[in-house]
Amino acid sequence: MKYPLHKDADGRWVHTWVRQSSVKTADMCLERFRNDIFQLQPEVHTDAATLGTVCHAVAEDALLARKAGRDESFEGMLSAFDYYWDEHGKLIQKWGSYNPEKIVGIGYSRLQSWYEQIYTNTDRPIVPQDVELDFNKLFLEDDERIVYLRGTIDLVEEDCVWDWKFPTRDYAKSKWEYERWDVQSIAYCWATDIPNFRYGITHPTGVSYIDLTRDKSHTDWLREKVLALCQYVESSPSNPWLLGDNGWWCSEKWCSNWAQCKGATEEVVINGI
Ligand code: SF4
Repeated sequence: MKYPLHKDADGRWVHTWVRQSSVKTADMCLERFRNDIFQLQPEVHTDAATLGTVCHAVAEDALLARKAGRDESFEGMLSAFDYYWDEHGKLIQKWGSYNPEKIVGIGYSRLQSWYEQIYTNTDRPIVPQDVELDFNKLFLEDDERIVYLRGTIDLVEEDCVWDWKFPTRDYAKSKWEYERWDVQSIAYCWATDIPNFRYGITHPTGVSYIDLTRDKSHTDWLREKVLALCQYVESSPSNPWLLGDNGWWCSEKWCSNWAQCKGATEEVVINGI
């Protein structure tokens, strides 16, 4: 179990759990959020997350090579994929998005798109300033609490912050949703003081982008959102916390808490009793 908040010498709460991903989890289900921030469930390695982790590691190496002045070749990237897959692939506990026979080929294909359309794109060359940049900054402070926002940014250029995605579908068509309430872009633009954010989405049929511009009004909104969550966590409601059980995420496939939570009542729900 983890302790995501504690009291400082002045009696103020110190919140150390705030990451863009935890805020997004809270949007979906507060009970799942409770399980995540207190680490009440062991981490389950899924096929989709593992493929994403390995592709990220390969992209990171290629970008560090560029930063050092020597670009990586595509063959070198595939060798790096094999190396990381050897380490991570065997840890997969749950298959749901990919076929075990095909997943390595799918990884190669994603990296080929990333290499051809992003890494070697001469129309919009990538110029890394920072790669996998960790931040942990004071986000809000008042008489009752101190809140840090932390995260890891895939790529920082002089005037653009990037995040890589390697999903099973192209969701760039949902750009309007990201413009409205995407927490990740707001957090990363605030952390770097760079207003331009870009998702590089490498999907089964190529690469798409979502470009977002973030300013102080977005950060103010995120502060309000995080403050409300902090107050909720401090009030320590009895378990379970509010159940966000009305979306795709509330399923055995997507929630590691399912067996203890919704799964225990599945029959009742299905039969409408
Ligand atoms: S099973 Fe559903 S209600 Fe329960 S924690 Fe997961 S998402 Fe929330």
